[in-house]
Amino acid sequence: MNKPITIAIDGYSSCGKSTLAKALANRLNFAFVDTGAMYRAVCLYFLRSKLDWKKLSTSEIEAVLDKIAITFEYNSLKNSSDTFLNGENVEEEIRGKEVSQSVSELSQLKAIRSRMVGLQQKVENRSGLIMDGRDIGTKVFPNAELKLFMTADPAIRVQRRFNELKRSGKQVSLEEVSENLKSRDYNDTHREENPLRKAVDSIELDNSFLNQEEQLHLVLRILTEEGLI
Ligand code: C5P
Repeated sequence: MNKPITIAIDGYSSCGKSTLAKALANRLNFAFVDTGAMYRAVCLYFLRSKLDWKKLSTSEIEAVLDKIAITFEYNSLKNSSDTFLNGENVEEEIRGKEVSQSVSELSQLKAIRSRMVGLQQKVENRSGLIMDGRDIGTKVFPNAELKLFMTADPAIRVQRRFNELKRSGKQVSLEEVSENLKSRDYNDTHREENPLRKAVDSIELDNSFLNQEEQLHLVLRILTEEGLI
């Protein structure tokens, strides 16, 4: 049997990376890991513990990380996985305003990135793996068989994220969403450690005017043409 393939999906905030990754994983029966949820769960732990990461040394940050276990459990109602922080389901909370405002700042820290990348590289790939984030094709799996770099018009991304938050009952204004996406994109592309970059061998997918079904079909076609499925 051929080695199971890895699909790396990177891109800016709210480009629909996880939505596409989940749809692909369901269609292909691959495992899916949302690495943004990992950074969000770590951020939630720091916020809850009232720890100011800017004042902590590398070894102190590593000691905090030793106390954190992040796991994913399948939720059949949603047909996707929920994120657990030390055994507690935090899926809702990690998508909230507090975490969204701090996560990209915390994600710049080398000690945190090294730990997350190490965990991500250890994920078992028995029957195909899809991972989405900011550094998957450049750092976590530079040899991934397929690398996608997703983009979309900023105004469309803001509107999509705003609609998503409203649907889940979160009180937020369009301006707040816009500011949050702008600052996260800035932090993610300007940090020293594994900044968000388009891998040279990645395929750019601008989904500004593509619906979810069209994106899924496009990627399935690429996988078929490349002989990967
Ligand atoms: O994907 P999501 O928007 O949930 O990610 C939240 C934040 O986590 C990003 O803005 C980024 O700062 C950080 N992140 C990262 N590297 C990844 C995934 C996410 O730095 N691989």
